[in-house]
Amino acid sequence: MPTCNTCGKRWTFTQSIKKALLYSKGTKCFYCGTPQYLSTRSGKRTNLIYVIALLGVVLGRPLFDLAGFPYLMLAIPVIIIVMVIVPFSIELSNEKEPLW
Ligand SMILES: [Zn+2]
Repeated sequence: MPTCNTCGKRWTFTQSIKKALLYSKGTKCFYCGTPQYLSTRSGKRTNLIYVIALLGVVLGRPLFDLAGFPYLMLAIPVIIIVMVIVPFSIELSNEKEPLW
């Protein structure tokens, strides 16, 4: 789980999910209000998870000959798994770091 670099407090899983799309732009710590950003290392790891999940969903359709509802049944668990894994891969930084 993300830990604030200023106050050292660890964010909860729910707090991490709420801020999931805001890390690259910077988001305030829930406890001390200091802006926190996604670290470069964490950004690479998170993007890798997104790419693998996207490939799984995109390639899953022709590989398993899925369409319609069965395809949705593949995509939804992948999205849920990604949402559960990503908060554990997040490391915060006090300054905005380059993505690569
Ligand atoms: Zn803090």
